[in-house]
Amino acid sequence: MTTRYADFYRQSIDQPEAFWAEQARLIDWQTPPAQICDYSNPPFARWYAGGTTNLCHNAVDRHLADRADQPALVAISTETDSERSYSFAELHAEVQRMAAVLLALGVTKGDRVLIYMPMVAEAAFAMLACTRIGALHSVVFGGFASGSLASRIEDAEPVAVVSADAGSRGGKVVPYKPLLDEAIAQSRHKPQAVLMVNRGMAPMPLHPGRDHDWAALRAQHLDATVPCEWVDATHPSYTLYTSGTTGKPKGVQRDTGGYAVALAASMQHIFDAKPGDTYFATSDIGWVVGHSYIVYGPLIAGMTTIMYEGLPIRPDAGVWWSIVEKYRVTHMFSAPTAVRVLKKQDASWLRKYDVSSLKALWLAGEPLDEPTAQWISDALQVPIIDNYWQTETGWPILTLANGVEPQTTRFGSPGKAMYGYAVKLIDESTGEELTGAHQKGVVAIEGPLPPGCMQTVWRDDQRFVNTYWKSIPGKLIYSTFDWGIRDADGYHFILGRTDDVINVAGHRLGTREIEESIASHPNIAEVAVVGVADALKGQVAMAFAVARDASGLGDPAARLKLEGEVMQRVDQQLGAVARPSRVHFVTVLPKTRSGKLLRRALQAVAERRDPGDLTTMEDPAALQQVRELVGQGG
Ligand code: AMP
Repeated sequence: MTTRYADFYRQSIDQPEAFWAEQARLIDWQTPPAQICDYSNPPFARWYAGGTTNLCHNAVDRHLADRADQPALVAISTETDSERSYSFAELHAEVQRMAAVLLALGVTKGDRVLIYMPMVAEAAFAMLACTRIGALHSVVFGGFASGSLASRIEDAEPVAVVSADAGSRGGKVVPYKPLLDEAIAQSRHKPQAVLMVNRGMAPMPLHPGRDHDWAALRAQHLDATVPCEWVDATHPSYTLYTSGTTGKPKGVQRDTGGYAVALAASMQHIFDAKPGDTYFATSDIGWVVGHSYIVYGPLIAGMTTIMYEGLPIRPDAGVWWSIVEKYRVTHMFSAPTAVRVLKKQDASWLRKYDVSSLKALWLAGEPLDEPTAQWISDALQVPIIDNYWQTETGWPILTLANGVEPQTTRFGSPGKAMYGYAVKLIDESTGEELTGAHQKGVVAIEGPLPPGCMQTVWRDDQRFVNTYWKSIPGKLIYSTFDWGIRDADGYHFILGRTDDVINVAGHRLGTREIEESIASHPNIAEVAVVGVADALKGQVAMAFAVARDASGLGDPAARLKLEGEVMQRVDQQLGAVARPSRVHFVTVLPKTRSGKLLRRALQAVAERRDPGDLTTMEDPAALQQVRELVGQGG
């Protein structure tokens, strides 16, 4: 028997043109697209080529007729104890002010604007202002430090940077300006303008001629009207950097028309959302969830979106549920790690508030373990919906499209292939498709990728093709670099990465980047970083390093000192998110005779698992040291 969703899915794969032509009606076009998908140059898909539209128009202006006075954006900070609500009309005014300021600073269509901001409303104004004038934003997570920021400035070559004096985490103020100044000093590219939002939290000395104060410029453009720039559907709307297996992060480039349609469609089919509903995603604008489901998705759907700065347990573990109660949140989106943090607190916090407005809780970013899913399901009494996707795809690959047809959740599985995604499981070595139930393969997607997915790697088409489309032998197919299996009913299970990317508390980190940072310490000769299973964060980074001068390292105090120095270096260069949980010192790293690092063996031993076949290993004593360090003795 076919189900409604099965038919819907089949149509999206068998008749993509008709399917996506229908979905395109969910957004406003200045010129309707002449063509639905131009796939004449695979794997580059040009969705809705010839159509013209604007993301900011679809997120803001188009709601003015029906819901000008409805709250559009509510920015809540438990760090500064503030709440600010903007109606669609007010958001429209603020975005135009920001757009006018960016134009005055010399930003034009196609230019990049780098946004390095905490979770304040101005960050969303800046994003929307960019897409309004056809400039590309490149948001860098506020938790990243100067080294990460510098490499992104260098790659994106922004004309302007928008930043703030400081962010705050757990009551601790993190000044941004010194990190930004340091990053600009390190970068070969120098932005011509820096726009600073002053929250009154930290000094932000302005460099004459380059730096500007937002409040002062805003005051000059209070009555600005800046029309939306109608851009081609294939005009890039933004780049967002993500970690891979090399030290150099990739700029994921997204289009305009396909992205707007994909988000509008997902709000309907996946989230079953209605205009006037309230969406609360606890992520950060520095991540893809922040782009798709804090800023653009909910606004395109005419919902109220909540931006939150703070922890889930401060001032107490009831804070999120108090927000749900106060704003009658209908849709909530978070990450498994946050739920595991809450799970360590008293469950009665959940019962203190009326959360009856919630329709469901969506969780993504990392594997959702069954006990965590069960706990939050019991506590909230609403469907808990896992969803699997990537920065590259912009919206879920696997989940349940409950807006099309309500389906049963199976804990441990993010669900079924979403419409538009021709998901296949592929045998890594032969490239053959695995069609049987419970066969483990690489999760791959046949081209064209649906609307909303990455167009290319920023300024590096070859890297896009080589990295994502050439890893499966004999086939041009997109690899997610995740292992998966599928059961007989089409529910998928994700079994971890096939590459050296790790996932700490839902944040994706490249072990190579961390290794490069550690290896820059003068006393580190060689280092390997692996992801090790962690009950709270899913995974943590663990480093095994060989010191150049190990003579004093017999002394525990000297080891601790060097470990502290290495961690500080990672903090300064990449940010605390990338800091390894431990830096262990060894005299040799496990390698093959040809010198290739045996990362999977190292990871297995660090996780106290059997490392498997070690016949290719150069020096068996290497793993013995690791065993002793992680406390397995002999
Ligand atoms: P990011 O691009 O930072 O969103 O990271 C994407 C990666 O996170 C995926 O390739 C997976 O490895 C992992 N991931 C995201 N969502 C899930 C999920 N629901 N279940 C399991 N792994 C996930």
